[in-house]
Amino acid sequence: MTDEWLLRAEGVGKSYGETRALIDASLTIGAGEAVAIMGPSGSGKSTLLHVLAGIIPADGGRVLLRRGEGAAGADEIGSLGDDERSALRLSRFGFVFQQGLLLPELTAAENVALPLLLRSVPRAEAARRSEERLAALGLAGLGERRIGQLSGGQAQRVAIARALIADPSLIFADEPTGALDSRTADEVLTALLATARGPGSALVVVTHDEHVASRCDRVVRLRDGRIQETAGTDPIPIGDPR
Ligand code: ADP
Ligand code: MG
Repeated sequence: MTDEWLLRAEGVGKSYGETRALIDASLTIGAGEAVAIMGPSGSGKSTLLHVLAGIIPADGGRVLLRRGEGAAGADEIGSLGDDERSALRLSRFGFVFQQGLLLPELTAAENVALPLLLRSVPRAEAARRSEERLAALGLAGLGERRIGQLSGGQAQRVAIARALIADPSLIFADEPTGALDSRTADEVLTALLATARGPGSALVVVTHDEHVASRCDRVVRLRDGRIQETAGTDPIPIGDPR
């Protein structure tokens, strides 16, 4: 990885009523870096991931994202408007959620093609790229099936194909390998890691699996909403982002 940072959280907090899900979390994700988030159930892993991705607003602190494609400076995700945030998600972020969130009335290939169709990529090209992604994840020939006709592991790979199809630079994955056997999990992780290695790219992956974590550059451990330790590379020195 380079010494460039891509995404950083500064003193971020999030409460749900009385529950303090995330407390004073600070974290820097470097360009080209893969970071695993681990911790017991309920420790705030999903909350941290969703706050980093701008899916839920933090109620304290800020999250900064470096501008893409060589542009100088950074944006504070929380201060962007809804439209800007949606545009950002569509253009630079890819998500693999804990539940795949696939659309059951569409086929696997249609689910995978969806992010491209939302970006007005022509249908034939979207279909071709969808088939390629499915094949790369070991799902060649299954594109015409509906989600309900796939196993849990296959459906999870469809979700991953969808997350990767628009070549996002930042991938957020919440237990992406939980439903997979260890060999498939390894293949899926390899695909996720390959995407994270580009100069303006990164992977943030919530996992319970020590093997998954060991293939990442760094592990961030959460307990009761607080970041405990980060093992691996040193924190990146931060200049002023603006
Ligand atoms: P993890 O992903 O580590 O299991 P979460 O981030 O999902 O943890 O949850 C952290 C804490 O916040 C838990 O106590 C959980 O019950 C609570 N929580 C998460 N989401 C919500 C929500 N939408 N409403 C209320 N409480 C929530
Ligand atoms: Mg979770």
